[in-house]
Amino acid sequence: MQKYKYNPSSLVADEFICHDEVVESIEFAQHHKNDIELLKQILKKAREEKGLSHREALLLLMNDLPEINQQIKKLAKQIKLDFYGNRIVLFAPLYLSNYCVNGCTYCPYHAVNKNMPRKKMTQQEIESEVIALQDMGHKRLALELGEHPVMNPLDYVLESIDTIYKIKHKNGSIRRVNVNIAATDEKSYTKLKDAGIGTYILFQETYNRERYEKLHPTGPKHDYNRQTEAMDRAMRGGIDDVGIGVLFGLSTYLYEFTALLMHVEHLKTVFNVGPHTISVPRLRPADGINPALFADCISDDIFVKIIACLRIAVPTAGMIISTRESKETRERALELGISQISGGSKTSVGGYSNPNDENNDSAQFDICDNRTLDEIVYWLLENGHIPSFCTACYRKHRTGEQFMKLCANKSIHHFCHPNALLSLQEYLTDYASSQTKTLGEKVIAQEVAKLPDASAKFVLQHLADIKEGKGRDFYL
Ligand code: SF4
Ligand code: SF4
Repeated sequence: MQKYKYNPSSLVADEFICHDEVVESIEFAQHHKNDIELLKQILKKAREEKGLSHREALLLLMNDLPEINQQIKKLAKQIKLDFYGNRIVLFAPLYLSNYCVNGCTYCPYHAVNKNMPRKKMTQQEIESEVIALQDMGHKRLALELGEHPVMNPLDYVLESIDTIYKIKHKNGSIRRVNVNIAATDEKSYTKLKDAGIGTYILFQETYNRERYEKLHPTGPKHDYNRQTEAMDRAMRGGIDDVGIGVLFGLSTYLYEFTALLMHVEHLKTVFNVGPHTISVPRLRPADGINPALFADCISDDIFVKIIACLRIAVPTAGMIISTRESKETRERALELGISQISGGSKTSVGGYSNPNDENNDSAQFDICDNRTLDEIVYWLLENGHIPSFCTACYRKHRTGEQFMKLCANKSIHHFCHPNALLSLQEYLTDYASSQTKTLGEKVIAQEVAKLPDASAKFVLQHLADIKEGKGRDFYL
């Protein structure tokens, strides 16, 4: 294998995700992982809440000292509160089509899975799905679809985004559409930006080139460079909020953790903007997937430690966990750094408007947390979190570098908290069960009392407007 030198400012995949640097970092951390003085120094730096390098974060992840691990948990929790407060943003995935030309061996949508019923929604069907999602109370979606130049061309995605934004059903509306589509070219990214997307999400799956090429044997996704350099093209195309992630379990978690942080360093170095979000999906069983793939799966304890160390290493990135995880794991993860979760999700094409067709076998993966959105909202409130349906930032042009500055100096709070309370009130008024409504309104009253006067005035005025039916969608 050709030798590459680690260079975060390079535009070449093998230089900013340098295999040798990953391997050497892991070796270094193996050797020093219980060096208490070094760990204390790293924690001291971490307490400044400006992030850590991949090597520093890896040392925290690998250490076995109970005292240090206690401090990691405490600090992750503190950073979560300092940057994100007690709010949790809610969203739902929307699967548009499961046609796919790729051969990802861990995904049941792969092209050679002949047992998978293939579906692509028409614009009319999308409308029914969106109405079902609006009736649940969702305001923020993540579009999901396989890569298929004929069945799912970019024009189909753009038309679907337009359809989604136009649907106004009762008091409902989808106000932010994030998009998770295959790596593409700069021009296509510009078109997505012009269509008004929020974040462009693309998971690397695995940063380990050898594993990547083996796990993606066929289709355009086989090209490791295309995948790894995609966020650079997205940024150059004008999308300044990008969401990265790996599918933990495809390679060793130490490799993925280190390389993911190198990707963060690259984006910050080249574009002065880190990732808007980091997702932490774990490999899950699914139809037609070889169980031998699960050799590198990680335990719950390692999983939550990864979340805590990422929280400390990249304080400004929102962190996302999906319904792949159980209620219990999500509870632990929320404490340590997660700021966004999906709720009431369906991972099949057409699953929201045809819930009885749920066993139609078109699901991408099995869901572990099957609760309704209302149950999730109630559970968050009970656990001291504020469920938020806020979508304000990109509509106020607070994106990219501008957003990062507000986040880094912790002033984003001034927007997030009032917006969370107002969007929650909308949910309570329009969609919640009486039990959730009672608890939610009690929590809102407690939270308004903590706001500075100017924000409290704005929030109280619009809480009343929402309750009296005078309007919706108030935000700062
Ligand atoms: Fe297709 Fe994505 Fe599944 Fe791969 S992971 S087979 S690209 S839908
Ligand atoms: Fe997210 Fe911006 Fe709303 Fe805060 S104000 S929850 S950062 S969209």
